[in-house]
Amino acid sequence: MSTITQTQIQQAALSNEEVLRYSRHLIMPEVGMEGQLKLKAARVLCIGAGGLGSPLALYLAAAGVGKLGMVDFDVVDYTNLQRQIIHSTADVGRRKLESATEKIAAINPFVQVKAFETKLSSANALQLFRDFDIIVDGTDNFPTRYLVNDACVLTGKPNVYGSIFRFEGQASVFATKEGPCYRCLYPEPPPAGLVPSCAEGGVLGILPGLVGVIQATEAIKLILGKGEPLIGRLLLVDAMGMKFRELRLRKNPLCPACGKNPTVTKLIDYEQFCGIRGEEAQASVTVPEIQPEELKRKLDSGENVFVLDVREPHEYQICNIGGYLIPLGDLPKRAHELDSSREIVAHCRSGGRSAKAVDFLRQAGFRRVKNLSGGILAWADKVDPKLPKY
Ligand SMILES: [Zn+2]
Repeated sequence: MSTITQTQIQQAALSNEEVLRYSRHLIMPEVGMEGQLKLKAARVLCIGAGGLGSPLALYLAAAGVGKLGMVDFDVVDYTNLQRQIIHSTADVGRRKLESATEKIAAINPFVQVKAFETKLSSANALQLFRDFDIIVDGTDNFPTRYLVNDACVLTGKPNVYGSIFRFEGQASVFATKEGPCYRCLYPEPPPAGLVPSCAEGGVLGILPGLVGVIQATEAIKLILGKGEPLIGRLLLVDAMGMKFRELRLRKNPLCPACGKNPTVTKLIDYEQFCGIRGEEAQASVTVPEIQPEELKRKLDSGENVFVLDVREPHEYQICNIGGYLIPLGDLPKRAHELDSSREIVAHCRSGGRSAKAVDFLRQAGFRRVKNLSGGILAWADKVDPKLPKY
């Protein structure tokens, strides 16, 4: 069964140009004119115009999805280009939606793009979802993921889910009438700070392509009402082993969102529900700091300052300021290598891990230890512009 209504299909029509454009669809009985009209009538909302949103939007547009909504409030950053293929080098600094809308129009001018330049929130999600048939989740954080799921359950829209981390990905179709939702699988978010983001842990550039194309495939199958969607199945993608496994999922009768007696009857504060994570959590450790310019002045004037680099060895290879390398995880067993009588300045990439290192050392009795504010990135900005940033 297709998620597109008969009335919607009746209102769609293809011009001769569109017939030619979609001819490789039209000659397949599984799509045909009926299927192509369903695609044209379909309204798909992509949450995020980043790693997953890029291949998703490009393929859904090329396939002839009539109305493509996109929600994003971000700006294209240089580090996005390794995987967010809808954006070009010339787009760095531009709004992601501006860049994405342009690319989609270039691929298929028959697609109507609705750009929502906003952060998806409990205040706007239900209203945004109402005008779409399918929601595709291309977000990279837990609060938005739970928000998308709950809003899908509440509005009765299928949630085409995908997530990626380093070399691994997941995909499924949640919140259909008969199938489980994200909360049937994960009723509670992981403990705050336990799961690093792509910015913290990295991600193989092709992985969002792999998973995003799986999501696009699922969205198109739902529109056509053909094939076996990933309802009740969690697809696990391991790019390193190039293995695809699948877990059976059942609808949980006790699920707080889609169970028999749901406790989630309206959208909640998802930031609070998931706890403050990542960089915000790191910043909450308050330790003495030193500015990059001040450290530079001390080093230049020959002061006896010891620079401690708590990043990983592969990060040290990208760039370093000659600091003594002890990765944060090794610090407890290697702290004896440090001289507690010397002034120590610890640094990492952006200041989060080294704040933890300073906190640890202070508790271990080090009195003269400070955190380099903003890490090696701030050093590159303020002291040495030739240093590569990552
Ligand atoms: Zn559920």
